[in-house]
Amino acid sequence: MTSPLIQPLASVEAFLARSHASFIDGEQRLPGGETRRTLRNPADDTALSETRLADLAQVEAIVQSAHRAFRSGIWSGLTPAERERLLLRFADLVEQHSEELAQLESLNQGKSIHIARAIEVGATLNYMRYMAGWATKIEGQTLDVSMPMPAGARFNAYTRREPAGVVAGIVPWNFPMMIALWKVMPALACGCTIIIKPADETPLTVLRLAELAIQAGIPAGVFNVLLGQGSVAGAALIAHPLVNKVSFTGSTAVGKQVGAAALQNMTRFTLELGGKNPMLVLPDADLDKAVAGAIGGGLLNQGQVCAAASRFFVHASRYDDFVERLGAQVAALKIGAGMDPQAQINPLVSRRQQDSVLGHLARAREQGARVHCGGARPERPGYFVEPTVLADVEPGMDCAREEIFGPVLSVLRYDDLDTAVERINDNPNGLAASIWSNDLGRVMDLIPRIQAGTVWVNNHVPLDPNLPFGGYKQSGIGREFGRAAIEGFTELKSVCITY
Ligand code: NAD
Repeated sequence: MTSPLIQPLASVEAFLARSHASFIDGEQRLPGGETRRTLRNPADDTALSETRLADLAQVEAIVQSAHRAFRSGIWSGLTPAERERLLLRFADLVEQHSEELAQLESLNQGKSIHIARAIEVGATLNYMRYMAGWATKIEGQTLDVSMPMPAGARFNAYTRREPAGVVAGIVPWNFPMMIALWKVMPALACGCTIIIKPADETPLTVLRLAELAIQAGIPAGVFNVLLGQGSVAGAALIAHPLVNKVSFTGSTAVGKQVGAAALQNMTRFTLELGGKNPMLVLPDADLDKAVAGAIGGGLLNQGQVCAAASRFFVHASRYDDFVERLGAQVAALKIGAGMDPQAQINPLVSRRQQDSVLGHLARAREQGARVHCGGARPERPGYFVEPTVLADVEPGMDCAREEIFGPVLSVLRYDDLDTAVERINDNPNGLAASIWSNDLGRVMDLIPRIQAGTVWVNNHVPLDPNLPFGGYKQSGIGREFGRAAIEGFTELKSVCITY
């Protein structure tokens, strides 16, 4: 049964009807070449909108635009309070257009309109205002020094944080608007200029954001958007000698290439990469809460979340009960379009991602995992995969080790906690983890033993702009959010004055 879909706003229809191109120097500019891409609606595989991909001449033009804007001081030369005021005005405009942005994202990415409203836009607004506030709080230190020369000299030494310069922000397709703003806001708060390269599947909200930034009074050239394939436009962007910092969010495989390319020019880089995030359920855990947490933390955005819970280590004494309860609730989830307000499971972003997840499921079956519920492709157009619980999963199976980035929950049994921790850490990823227990002593012992950039206790996946976010091991280099983000978009200069 399908329920009536939300009718898109007229402004959304008008935006979709346009043929979009890279946003350079305050406006969309058509490229010299004619490489077009048709964006498709993941819910029904119909054409949604069209983009024209940048050629290499446009990559050059966009970097020159951001470089000119940085060097001219139209942005970095403003007082911190002026930058803060403009960024807050930008946030106000995003809020005024929140329904339009949420609908665009739901239609383009496939996600639930509720998630688009609450997270992609709602949580991001908090993040925008938090980061705008950093513009007026960037600081250095005054340091006492003991240099012996010249004799009798006195010194005043201090550090200052200066904007890194031109930033290339490369973002994935799972939360296109939110993750773009995770880079735009701190970069601009620090006085940098930025070029966002969205994933080619999901450029629409970022293009709309660039227009709103101009409307807010952020000067042309400060926030640009480059449309193009990662291996072409993205690669050319990060290799450009006028790019000073690369902030990348995406897969670990591409992140390694990006880091290696950035190193060629000693361009600064931070990498936010993939995860295979465990949820550890202790014998005393409140199973109602743990099951709800598994669904919220594992199936948010159909599991297309870097920090999603995807491998569940459940104590043998609670294993069957956990699997039964989880399976019953997962099987009852309603599948439908993102614009269907009743739907709880929505399509994946693309046919490619759907095929990839179905391939993982086929391999899990071959390797002996038991499909407790789901596991199939529903008989409907669009890129849907049934939400799936895999039981009897063994630690060596691919579904217990590899990021699937889809609605698949792999449940493993453990007998003793030390073995569970060993298995959790025996993975190249280390983005996030959660522990489910009310046994405070055990929880406090476990937190330092788990190799992950974030450990949640009795919850999974909430992020706060003030709490650093990033990965251990192959889940990344560097941290976003909070003070760490500001450090990532600034250079540290030491000053020493003799007097
Ligand atoms: P991806 O690595 O395929 O692509 C990410 C971005 O990089 C896209 O814009 C793409 O066009 C671009 N790109 C691809 N090749 C490039 C190259 N050679 N040079 C420069 N840019 C290039 O990732 P995806 O499939 O879009 O997103 C899913 C992945 O992102 C998952 O692994 C997920 O875990 C990860 N992710 C991580 C976080 C985090 O914060 N840690 C957040 C969201 C997603």
